[in-house]
Amino acid sequence: MGEIISGKELSLKVREEVRLEVEELKGLYGAVPHLVVILVGEDPASQSYVKAKHKACLNAGMKSTVVIKEISTTQDTLLELIDMYNKDSDVHGILVQLPLPKHINEDLIIDAIDIAKDVDGFHPLNIAYMHLGRKAILPATPKGIMTMLKSKNIELKGKDAIVVGRSNIVGKPVAMLLLAEHATVTIAHSRTLNLKEKCLRADIIVAAVGRANTITADMVKEGAVVIDVGVNRVDGKLVGDCDFDAIKDKASFITPVPGGVGPMTITSLLQNTIECYKGILKI
Ligand code: NAP
Repeated sequence: MGEIISGKELSLKVREEVRLEVEELKGLYGAVPHLVVILVGEDPASQSYVKAKHKACLNAGMKSTVVIKEISTTQDTLLELIDMYNKDSDVHGILVQLPLPKHINEDLIIDAIDIAKDVDGFHPLNIAYMHLGRKAILPATPKGIMTMLKSKNIELKGKDAIVVGRSNIVGKPVAMLLLAEHATVTIAHSRTLNLKEKCLRADIIVAAVGRANTITADMVKEGAVVIDVGVNRVDGKLVGDCDFDAIKDKASFITPVPGGVGPMTITSLLQNTIECYKGILKI
């Protein structure tokens, strides 16, 4: 059976490192990293993500401000709020919880966040920096995946990787980060032909689709590393995109759902908040 990469366990370790670093920063500079999370509306999933982020910040000894705005909030009001936090030197990170209500243009909102405070790493300039291999705030989920791979010293150089899914928040950035580590990367999507053959060639499979059982055991090469980003509810149970039970005997490493990539996402957000505090883009 392959080794399970537990995001839950790794998260505990990394969050403790984050907490110690926050303590050190407080000792050095007298202030702790401060994250502002803005939530517009009452979407239950967004509410629970925001709550989890707030709790994680507080547990790490950081300052956390959650701003909740009514669903009727106008785009201009939101832009003014972002402008205020951009100018506030006591605030180091700004995150606007997505998705936003339809009357607000998400791109405009993301563009308005000061890139030095863009803890989500969604600002186009941050994305460009990442693609160029320059210093960048990396999007949380892809960053968490790379931390998981590194934690097990998984060799990426010269390996064939396939990323199934090409979203801007997971698929594309994780492909770019794997490429930066010298993997040869294929990006697959809903129009990809012969997905099974392509997956069978891969040493590393990252599934970020949002559909249970997209990756089945017959698509996985013996000894491959399988990272499952998907979160799906099937008969009330949380499952990933991969057929975990069947694949775990073939893979050399595999991430579970829940307890895999999920916990690493907020952990990476905490690391990003520290990086913004330290002003990594300005150095
Ligand atoms: P998304 O924006 O919906 O993108 C899904 C991607 O999957 C698209 O590129 C789509 O192709 C592709 N796709 C759909 N059906 C396919 C198929 N049959 N074969 C191959 N590719 C297919 O989703 P996302 O935001 O990247 O999220 C993906 C999953 O990860 C979701 O389950 C989400 O909940 C989960 N997620 C988890 C975390 C975490 O922290 N654990 C974070 C983010 C996302 P097209 O581009 O052609 O449409």
